[in-house]
Amino acid sequence: MQVLSVTPEIFPLIKTGGLADVTGALPVALAGKGVAMRTLVPGYPQIMDAFKKKKPVHHYPLLQGGKASVHAAQIAGLDLFVLDAPHLFDRPGGPYGNAAGADWPDNWRRFAALSQVGGDIAGGAVSGYQPDIVHAHDWQSAMTLAYMRYGQAVGTPSMITVHNLAFQGQFGAGIFGELGLPAAAMALDGVEYYGGVGFLKAGLQAAWAITTVSPTYAQEIRSPEFGMGLDGLINMRSVDLYGIVNGIDTEIWNPETDKHLVSNYTARTLKARHPNRTAVEDRFNLDRDDSPIVCVISRLTWQKGMDILATAVDGIVARGARLAILGSGDAGLEGALLAAAARHRGRIGVVVGYDEALSHTMQGGCDAIVIPSRFEPCGLTQLYGLRYGCVPVVARTGGLADTIIDANEAAISAGVATGFQFAPADAGALLHAIRRLVAAHANPAIWTSMQRQGMKADVSWDKSAQKYLELYRLLLSKRAV
Ligand code: ADP
Repeated sequence: MQVLSVTPEIFPLIKTGGLADVTGALPVALAGKGVAMRTLVPGYPQIMDAFKKKKPVHHYPLLQGGKASVHAAQIAGLDLFVLDAPHLFDRPGGPYGNAAGADWPDNWRRFAALSQVGGDIAGGAVSGYQPDIVHAHDWQSAMTLAYMRYGQAVGTPSMITVHNLAFQGQFGAGIFGELGLPAAAMALDGVEYYGGVGFLKAGLQAAWAITTVSPTYAQEIRSPEFGMGLDGLINMRSVDLYGIVNGIDTEIWNPETDKHLVSNYTARTLKARHPNRTAVEDRFNLDRDDSPIVCVISRLTWQKGMDILATAVDGIVARGARLAILGSGDAGLEGALLAAAARHRGRIGVVVGYDEALSHTMQGGCDAIVIPSRFEPCGLTQLYGLRYGCVPVVARTGGLADTIIDANEAAISAGVATGFQFAPADAGALLHAIRRLVAAHANPAIWTSMQRQGMKADVSWDKSAQKYLELYRLLLSKRAV
């Protein structure tokens, strides 16, 4: 099966978020399952510099204002089509904006170009290559599906994965004339969105199937609360809507071999976590005692519920837990958490910043990780927590609800609990969960069972890739019909 993936980011070449992890991991995980995935990416400098042997497979005398070509390339074990269009992609800074973080004003043009090329390749532009399925990601490649629908590839099954519904790629109607689409596309069931052009909207409209990164989030985005204005359309498409949870890199995140840990361990040698715990106590200036250390590793934002945490900190300490917080983001939240640490010396420690190595040590040494997100399409830190025996305490939303088994009485006696869920996402419910956590932690048999159960959970890409494969097969059967 040949699948063309079209994406603005791919790990390890270019990454700003979880989208890159998915597009980088899927080709590898699917290769063993009979799927050949080739990925079309923009020729950002990082990518153009990464391959020596340039092999153009298609030329454009004029693509959105300049000359362009498509190269077939093998980089970092990935099979790529690289869109070399210097006037669009040869710029310093990030994939979407300059070094100061301001978006490029012609982003619509840049990602319309990427999508047009995706549509062309789907329609047979590269001789000898014909994908069976096209898989786009987020607004930046969503228009691929519109170019397919209004072009040569209307019969090729297509899929879009939504990693973040908050970014929709909405532009004024004035750009429509430059997209190269037929006039009929500027319609309610085409690319038109509230009088302008909606890139993600167009993709959701044209896709044969829509996926998002957890089953619960797939349901949540059908409601006005989570749908960010697209809930009406998503409801209309709900028969074709699926949720597939992301996996994690189980080699990088492996407590048995992780170089960032002071002491490596397995589910059978949990006592060997202790030196990591001591390292966390030292790094965060926490008292050394037996009370549970609950950690936070997060962007400090409203989405992540960090204001809820800030409201709950005194109560968390009062219930007998210590807090180790690593994060950066909103300055007001940083200040509130630093003030809490000053109020509760020895009980709360805060490190402001982004520190990959420390995040590993924390997962390997803390007892629990709290994630009070208001919404969470998938979430990764709870999956790392499971794998490291750092018991997750999560708001019951999105991927958090799908990946953690709450330690209610039934789950504890069946020995299947892996963490604590709470709802709604507020300080009262969070504190109730902390009370349950402190009680469970005081019972070593229950606690160890929860840690081991979490460590047994399959959080690898293999399971998720299998689900994508099943969906690809379903789409192919629809084509046959
Ligand atoms: P999101 O992508 O919405 O921020 P995820 O849970 O999907 O949330 O992924 C967050 C990733 O960023 C995880 O790998 C987490 O460990 C990492 N991370 C977040 N904040 C920090 C930080 N301050 N230091 C180190 N790693 C962090």
